[in-house]
Amino acid sequence: MKLGTCLYEGESYVFIDVGTHLLLPGLDENDQEMAWFDMGILIADYEELKPKLERIIDLDNPALEIDYADVTYQAPHPHPNQNVMCLGLNYLEHAQESAQAFNKTGKAPQYPIIFTKAVSSITGHNATIPFDPDTCSELDWEVELAVIIGKQGRKITREQAYDYVFGYTVLNDLSARDIQRNHKQFFLGKSFDGACPMGPYIVTKDEIPNPHDLTISCRVNGIIKQEANTGLMIFDIPAIIETISRSQTLYPGDIIATGTPSGVGFARNPPEFLKPNDVVECEIGGIGVLKNQIGLSA
Ligand code: MG
Repeated sequence: MKLGTCLYEGESYVFIDVGTHLLLPGLDENDQEMAWFDMGILIADYEELKPKLERIIDLDNPALEIDYADVTYQAPHPHPNQNVMCLGLNYLEHAQESAQAFNKTGKAPQYPIIFTKAVSSITGHNATIPFDPDTCSELDWEVELAVIIGKQGRKITREQAYDYVFGYTVLNDLSARDIQRNHKQFFLGKSFDGACPMGPYIVTKDEIPNPHDLTISCRVNGIIKQEANTGLMIFDIPAIIETISRSQTLYPGDIIATGTPSGVGFARNPPEFLKPNDVVECEIGGIGVLKNQIGLSA
């Protein structure tokens, strides 16, 4: 199932993307389930709501049908309860290119490197990313597979990990390299407004039997900058879930970005950065394309 969140006539709705159009269950006046307006509730109650969602898809009621062009996409889960957890240097070629940019030799990290992006940086498919040249001069792209947690858990083992996954989406871990460098830390440079586009929707895990065999790519103005496969991750999804949940409880709706492959702007020769009007498309096979344009902001 492809589930997301959109604005329609000024209101926020959960949608189901059925391939030809969207269905907005919340438009049914006789079925005002809270989950139809709040992805966090839908994720937490998914097992219970799944038969109802399947029935809505089967019925394909024209009263719930909306054209893609008539909505504004929000992030699929626009207001998670905690920061987006992110893996750093989780593809070997990216670890190497990052080290080379500082004249060092890159090797795979021994343990997963984990940082977070602020909830306030989350934005949706087709959103314009505010670019403030007074604050940032080195805006960079990072396509990533994001995992959405479906169930509360602590000390989750590798073997149990996928039981705790709800689904997957595409995430662009936009990064202000100069802020990152100047402040010696990931958080500030990766949490500016608009730094975390996600979407267009979450694909539930039943439709992605192997999340480690997906093509992953990023295009800037139509030119391929990153092209890899999610099978190349150093720490796979079970390892990531096992590591994080060893010390903290994971909750339904938590989001984990699994790291970016090589081809980012700062490691190119010469380095390349995003500028106003650039269009960034992040694509993961089996999920979809997340598209954003860079805009100017004060
Ligand atoms: Mg990243």
